[in-house]
Amino acid sequence: MAKREPIQLDAVIFGGGIAGLWTLDALVRSGRNAVLIERTALGAGQTIWSQGIIHGGLKYTLDGFLSGSAQAIRDMPTIWRECLAGQRKPDLSGAPVRSEQCWLWRTESLRSRVGMMGARVGLSTPVHTVDIRDRPDALKECPGTVARVEEQVIDPAGVLAVLCELYKQRLIHAPNDNPAHIEAVSGGAPTVSLQGDSVLFVPQVLIFAAGNGNAALRKSVGLDAMRMQVRELHMVLARGPLPELHGHCIDGKRTRVTITTAKHDGHTIWQIGGEIAERGVDMSPTDLIAHARDEVHAALPGVDLSGIEWATYRAPRAEGAMPSGKRPEDVTVLSEGAYITIWPTKLALAPRAAKMVVKAMPEAIAGPGIVPTDLSRPSIARPPWENATWGTA
Ligand SMILES: Cc1cc2nc3c(=O)[nH]c(=O)nc-3n(C[C@H](O)[C@H](O)[C@H](O)COP(=O)(O)OP(=O)(O)OC[C@H]3O[C@@H](n4cnc5c(N)ncnc54)[C@H](O)[C@@H]3O)c2cc1C
Repeated sequence: MAKREPIQLDAVIFGGGIAGLWTLDALVRSGRNAVLIERTALGAGQTIWSQGIIHGGLKYTLDGFLSGSAQAIRDMPTIWRECLAGQRKPDLSGAPVRSEQCWLWRTESLRSRVGMMGARVGLSTPVHTVDIRDRPDALKECPGTVARVEEQVIDPAGVLAVLCELYKQRLIHAPNDNPAHIEAVSGGAPTVSLQGDSVLFVPQVLIFAAGNGNAALRKSVGLDAMRMQVRELHMVLARGPLPELHGHCIDGKRTRVTITTAKHDGHTIWQIGGEIAERGVDMSPTDLIAHARDEVHAALPGVDLSGIEWATYRAPRAEGAMPSGKRPEDVTVLSEGAYITIWPTKLALAPRAAKMVVKAMPEAIAGPGIVPTDLSRPSIARPPWENATWGTA
């Protein structure tokens, strides 16, 4: 391909998960000219592995206090709800919503405190204790209080598809065998070349929104790779004649299991996380499935698990590094000269991360600039159940 004129841009984003795509939207709407480069497929990593719960902070207030995490996230359900209803940009009204609410329930019969928590700490997602007649079938035999919390559950692939459609002209696929090459220029703007040198971008800022890939990207331009931490999860999938259920089984301050439901090829699939997935990191898939079966049975005594197929998948979470190694309470956005690095910590926090990036950006100078139309475009990552190896427990 012949050499082209360098293309001036305000930003080049690396990584097309929820953080990169939401940031692209925020930048374009703020008048910046930006493109996004994806190495594999959009959302390949945490976004496609996620359970899609748009948390409003309730699970961070189970000890009765408004933690930093709860404060950071409490406005997110409203933002997402408005976007999903097409009342706010980005317009995500084309993305299916898996559930308008999550259920919260306990395994023991003590009166649950959760119904009071949300009101006490002033979260924006109301929590309603529900009468036994109004419970979903799966929770009819649960002995403790059952509450309904207005946290939506999205379909991550559906949201990725809508954002991809909105910005397809700005999305570029640069796979490992034909990668984008960053040239860090000391004291000046970095450059990004593609397809040999046939495409050259000269952005004001490079934005690393590559999840787990951020450490390597940072290292490649001389930034500290140790600003990232990785916390593993070993998630469980169950498939079969299961009831539709979205929610958390709470035990004291612990989220014992978190279950969300997806449909694929006529199957109902449960994605099971929470404490199971944290404990499961040191377990083999066989041991984890046996443990998950016991935990789900304890949490949902009324659900028949016979004939259910099971699978597991490992899913590392990439976050800004914390001295304690625990989950950061908020998004991490590092602005270092011509580089901005983002770890949103939660999918739900992507709008907040994007807003912080826009704030950290210099004024737009690039103008509308033309992005070549003959570059290859990334596809959308496949959900974990499409690659799973299923077996009975
Ligand atoms: C099992 C699991 C369940 C979760 N459930 C929830 C939930 O219910 N609710 C919630 O709010 N959060 C949840 N989270 C957290 C949430 O998924 C993440 O915080 C969020 O998806 C991170 O998005 P991201 O865009 O930063 O990273 P990712 O989604 O990992 O995206 C990074 C992208 O960058 C690309 N990439 C990597 N390296 C490069 C490179 N060198 N060049 C170009 N591209 C590159 C990858 O292919 C990928 O597309 C969950 C996480 C996990 C693991």
